[in-house]
Amino acid sequence: MSSDGDADGDTIDAPESDALSPYTLQREEASETRHAFWADTVADRVAKRNPDEPIVIKGGISPSGVPHLGNVNEIMRGYFVAEVLRDRGHEVRQVFTADDRDPLRKLPRTLCDLEGNLVDLGEVDAGALGRNLGAPYTDIPDPFGCCDSYGDHFATIIQNSADAVDVPIELVSNTELYESGEFEAVTRFVLEHQERAREVLSKYQDTVDADGDYVPFNPICEECGKITETVTSVDLDAGEAGTVDYRCTDMDAGNQTIDGCGHEGTATLREGKLPWRFEWPAQWQLLGVDFEPFGKDHAEGSWPSGQDVARNVLEIEPPVPMVYEWFTLEGEPFSSSEGNVILVSDVLELLEPEVLRYFFAKDPAKARDFSIERLDQLVDEFDRLEAIYFGEIEGSEDERAFAERVYPFVVDDPREERIRLPYTFAAVLGMTDDPDLREEIARREGHIPDDAPDWAVDGALERVEQARNWARRTGNEFDYELKRSEIPDHEFDADTEAALAELADFIEAGHDPEEIQGEIYETARRHDVDVGDFFAAGYRLFFDETQGPKLGSFLAKVDREFVVDRLRRER
Ligand SMILES: [Zn+2]
Ligand SMILES: [Zn+2]
Repeated sequence: MSSDGDADGDTIDAPESDALSPYTLQREEASETRHAFWADTVADRVAKRNPDEPIVIKGGISPSGVPHLGNVNEIMRGYFVAEVLRDRGHEVRQVFTADDRDPLRKLPRTLCDLEGNLVDLGEVDAGALGRNLGAPYTDIPDPFGCCDSYGDHFATIIQNSADAVDVPIELVSNTELYESGEFEAVTRFVLEHQERAREVLSKYQDTVDADGDYVPFNPICEECGKITETVTSVDLDAGEAGTVDYRCTDMDAGNQTIDGCGHEGTATLREGKLPWRFEWPAQWQLLGVDFEPFGKDHAEGSWPSGQDVARNVLEIEPPVPMVYEWFTLEGEPFSSSEGNVILVSDVLELLEPEVLRYFFAKDPAKARDFSIERLDQLVDEFDRLEAIYFGEIEGSEDERAFAERVYPFVVDDPREERIRLPYTFAAVLGMTDDPDLREEIARREGHIPDDAPDWAVDGALERVEQARNWARRTGNEFDYELKRSEIPDHEFDADTEAALAELADFIEAGHDPEEIQGEIYETARRHDVDVGDFFAAGYRLFFDETQGPKLGSFLAKVDREFVVDRLRRER
């Protein structure tokens, strides 16, 4: 569960109780089998409850704005537990709720279109959005005009993200659950047991008085369309399943107030929503949830109250919980308003889906960083996992156990002949546009075996495009274009020309990257050429620039004949 939630009122320290700590993975029990994969530990706990089949795993999100990579935790963590349970022979549904009846509480500064392009609030009709503050996401027009509503727009992106990493989720709209009447019975039950509901909630929120007039239902104002929190009376005998009378009052939304219109009206139980602290446990009941992962925010807030509500108001058993650590992006928290955000669609332009799946297969109890700058490290780690799985390299006992269990869940179709070009090497190949040349260099460097099947060669070379996108996005040392077809304009003095000729001879004789790098310095000195100028001459010849990547290792990776000819300025 990852959601903005409702404004909670002040949270009181959770009371003692039989409350189950959600820090599942931090809490190892002596009686438990040790597993190489955390999802097995969670699956044990789910199985221990003897759940009815299909087992239901849930996640959820409030479609409040840009669904970024951080939100994908919610999808992937549940997925691995689902897959482990399926592997053990269980039938599993992975349900994902769009908590889209939640009200828009503040205007996001950044939105994104269906392709994942970030768009400033100023570029859409911000006025229309502003008038809809306080209204449910599904009642707000899509600012991009492509979907049924604001909520539907962002829910669509979530669905697309799940599809892109090949995770089959059943997306459920909360609004639909209310409108279709599926939520009606549990809503009515909560209102029938208002005193119990108040008493439980008052332990967690000091704005709720156990003997006060708090009513756990928020109607939608029929006049202005906003969610209102002021119910003046409840009549469970009215209409088909009961109604509430309300007054449309102001809503406290963080550091601002959303004005109510003052309208007094009557709403059915389908025309509103349960407050989040009740809605979440109501979802567990309605959907029969057996397991749900959630972020740290809920661990201290709505989880303690949620399980209390489940047991002592709804009289159901809450699901097995699991808290995942949030990760950072480039060392900073995800923030669409600060521009520190990346979508799944962006990431998949830089690496294969299985590498991203691997990232989420790592221990969710550990905080970690997702670094685009150092994406090569993540890809290298994945390549290592794969090589260990296929016994191509030695790993520690732990690494082998992890690879053996996890790899088949990360890669849909394990094939030993698959070829992975090292990511930074792929980035070097990406400096040239010529696909034949890319393949030729990769073969010569020994990264593609002579007998490799065509599909494996094609697959290997796909990474070149990804690494090239990475170089462009980060503007790193690989973000240069090799000027292969013709020699860039240049003008060198006689000493430089002589030094280049000598360097050409050295490279022609065959040397490794470090030796070439050293020789560049030596040659320059021998000919009294300023070292900086000599490097600049090299960058001019190959990139038509004054600077570039580490020249020695670069020249060693490009085909030798071309390098030699270019240094001699023959082509
Ligand atoms: Zn749309
Ligand atoms: Zn109103």
